[in-house]
Amino acid sequence: MHSLDSFQHFTDFLLSQGDTILSSPINGELWKVRGVFLEFCKEDTYHTPTTYTDFIDYLRLFQTLSGGSLHFSTNLSHALTSTISRPRLIWINFTTIKILHYRLRGLAPPKKQPARRKEAKSLLDFISQKASTPTVELGQVTRLTVEVMTDFLHKVTARTSLGRERAKLRTFKVPFPQVCSDSKHALQLANSGLNKREYISSSKQLASEYIVHQRIQQARNALSAETYQCSLGKIHFLPILYNHTDVNLGDCSYLDTCHKMRTCRYLHYFTLNPLKSESAMKMVEKDLDYTIGQCFSESFRSITPPQWINCDVRSLPFGILGKFAVIISDPAWDIHMSLPYGTCKDDELLELPMHELQDEGIIMLWVTGRSIEIGRRALRKWGYQISDEMIWIKLNQLKRTIVTGRTGHWLNHSKEHLLVGLKGDPRWLNLRVDTDVVVSSTRETSRKPDEFYDIIERLVGPHARKLEIFGRAHNTRPGWLTIGNQLQGVSLHEPEVKYNYEMYISQNPN
Ligand code: SAH
Repeated sequence: MHSLDSFQHFTDFLLSQGDTILSSPINGELWKVRGVFLEFCKEDTYHTPTTYTDFIDYLRLFQTLSGGSLHFSTNLSHALTSTISRPRLIWINFTTIKILHYRLRGLAPPKKQPARRKEAKSLLDFISQKASTPTVELGQVTRLTVEVMTDFLHKVTARTSLGRERAKLRTFKVPFPQVCSDSKHALQLANSGLNKREYISSSKQLASEYIVHQRIQQARNALSAETYQCSLGKIHFLPILYNHTDVNLGDCSYLDTCHKMRTCRYLHYFTLNPLKSESAMKMVEKDLDYTIGQCFSESFRSITPPQWINCDVRSLPFGILGKFAVIISDPAWDIHMSLPYGTCKDDELLELPMHELQDEGIIMLWVTGRSIEIGRRALRKWGYQISDEMIWIKLNQLKRTIVTGRTGHWLNHSKEHLLVGLKGDPRWLNLRVDTDVVVSSTRETSRKPDEFYDIIERLVGPHARKLEIFGRAHNTRPGWLTIGNQLQGVSLHEPEVKYNYEMYISQNPN
């Protein structure tokens, strides 16, 4: 019998000899191989096979142990019977020998820093790169195996790559606004573009951006060429000098979201964005070849027009709306602040029959301050697993991070949180296309950035059913159904929903 330990010698032997025992003068002849092996073990003969027969037995066991890593010219059993066609060793699978070597020694493979490989561009590229990596060096095999696995695990899937490609085709590229830093430009443009009569009496509405651009165009000769050119390409904040403005006080910290603009003595600005060129306004979308598991006709199927229902969400039976792939909800949490709309109690929100709206999919819930915890509780109660959290970093009119937020008891809040919940196993989501941070300007009270809709649409695809709860008129969008109590009337296009809603109204006239 041979102990497991005794085979350590043989793997040591094979790895140290390499191919030399296969060629002249040994030529893989087993009696010679045995001789060299005994010579190799001469200091430790305790475990080595004693006779030639014993050596053949030893080889047989080694074959079983190493998964047939030795190749012989004929069957090994002829070694003891045949005198004419004795098997010779003709090939050694060093890869499996090395694996066995480390297993027998109970060792971890040597920690050699892997050379940084060039990033493969495609999966094919990646595999051929692996195939061409030589594996003869001692210890490299096990390392490669782990490495290959890790690489595969971290490699973005074809689905993700396709999702990103598709997003590129479908998405407007909006350059991050370049703001002019030359205050002289803003002053000159204000003189030409803002009509003093409009704002000296601050009861008058300021002109639209388009009119201001027209005025600047007309006054072009009075402006320096540099200022005019700059007005076409960058954002300018034109100072508005109301009668009550005291320039020495500096900028109003609320800027364009100031609630007392008509009396506030701090400085306010008019935002003059560069005129958008026609080509920039055109949708970039080309013919899409990428379908990522969705119906391939989606690129030419029209999207359902915006749909909405004015209602109190607490009394609308959600069952009539059908199921949705994604829900976004910006509840009117009672956060003890004066808000220009009614709010709901925590319990009322928690009691909403959300389970009727979704069997599988994703939900996004806006939360703030105190409601972060209630929001988490609500999601879990509604059967979701909280999978992510997105934030919106708020920018003020001057495109800088807000420092004087209107919310926050101890710190001024400059961001808002969106909890992301997951129900079921929605494999159809386009994963890892967008990030969890959106940096965008504030608008009306509570109004959220449109970027979130774009992110959701990329995540679920244009034709997936999408629902917004607590939405307002400016939130209505193609492909979406919006419900809330500040919407005007009802507009439905999906025949089933329309039918269900009419039935519901006919049975509940009030
Ligand atoms: N996300 C929106 C803001 C939502 S503010 C945006 O981007 O503009 C919350 C909205 O929920 C308000 O319009 C408020 O009037 C509405 N709301 C409050 N209680 C409601 C209720 N019980 N049913 C329906 N809508 C309600």
